[in-house]
Amino acid sequence: MLKAKHITIVLLLSLLSFHAIAGIVNASVVNVRILTTKVINSFIFSPLEGTYLVYADGNLIIETDASGIFQMSIEKDVITLKTFEKTIGSYSSIKIMSKDIDAAFKIKSVIPESKVRSYSGSLTVDITTDKKQFLLINKVELEKYIAGVVESESGTKTSLEYYKLQAILCRTYLLAHINRHILEGYQVCDDVHCQAYLNKHNENDVWKGVIETRGLVVVDSDLNLITSAFHSNCGGQTVNSENVWTVSTSYLKTVKDTFCLSMPHAKWQRSIPLEDWKSYLQLKHKYPIDDSLQMNNAISFSQPNGRAIYFVDKGLKIPLKIIRADFQLKSTYFSVEQKGDMIVFNGKGYGHGVGLCQEGAMAMAKNKILYKDILNYYYKDVHLIDLSALNYFRLE
Ligand SMILES: [Zn+2]
Ligand SMILES: [Zn+2]
Repeated sequence: MLKAKHITIVLLLSLLSFHAIAGIVNASVVNVRILTTKVINSFIFSPLEGTYLVYADGNLIIETDASGIFQMSIEKDVITLKTFEKTIGSYSSIKIMSKDIDAAFKIKSVIPESKVRSYSGSLTVDITTDKKQFLLINKVELEKYIAGVVESESGTKTSLEYYKLQAILCRTYLLAHINRHILEGYQVCDDVHCQAYLNKHNENDVWKGVIETRGLVVVDSDLNLITSAFHSNCGGQTVNSENVWTVSTSYLKTVKDTFCLSMPHAKWQRSIPLEDWKSYLQLKHKYPIDDSLQMNNAISFSQPNGRAIYFVDKGLKIPLKIIRADFQLKSTYFSVEQKGDMIVFNGKGYGHGVGLCQEGAMAMAKNKILYKDILNYYYKDVHLIDLSALNYFRLE
């Protein structure tokens, strides 16, 4: 039995579509664009831990530790590098390389002003091709990047078991999207477009969760990296991926979830004037508001048998996800009722509802359910694979 199982694993691993994963197996550093959504014209850089070497246009200019503070600004299409005492020079590109493995730095945007952020690894400073803003790229060790993402995506108040799970999902997502911005000169951005990466991690358990699952990723039954979708709270039921993104997958299937029902984002409410609701339905969706039966449906809608895809009925073809987007509602899992001259949306959950429900998973982890079991609860027929094992079989 044991032997048969071993053979199956070897077979599975050799069947893996290496063209999909080859090349990323050895990835140990990631180039992440940081402060992506801000149009930065001036910022302050300072080492936080360790020593840094500052190269300007390829030449070593300064070696600095935490006592060094530098300001970089775009002036006449070039980067002006200054300390508080003097201007060092003007350059077209600056690389600030970490000399130590644990080096970290602080960065604060001055124009526009923003709060201080800290990162591990090195920083490349360029100007975008339109010369309008900085292009800041953080070269960081892969697992340290994962730790920063885990903390940005799930906060610092949950358990080690949950951090392990989130680390595996964030690692899988990264490796499935590793070349998303390659034509722009980096691999991933720090915005939710890729994954939120707002800082280096601060919480010890986050780092433990990353290290204890180092190299682990999730693959589907065809052994491709999964789309490791997750959201804040499903409101009691997750959603089939095709209902949100039109693409059907074998593993992103609806499941019932009672674990998230007492969590912070289980319920929400929103009110809008009845007249706004009527004119929205009529103008945007040509809804028959003069038909008294249909109007009654539009002000007394509910989803008693679990999540619906369409508002009122299928025939009208008004996807709930469109209503959600237009009114910026927290989820599509809502009911509608009239209260005087107002319409009240009573909603459940927060987010698109596909894949793992973070608050449900956090509650499960707190109840001593193991991360592997939580993973298999939200994603159907998926497998954990260690990238280093994969590499080993590849070399055989
Ligand atoms: Zn991106
Ligand atoms: Zn849930």
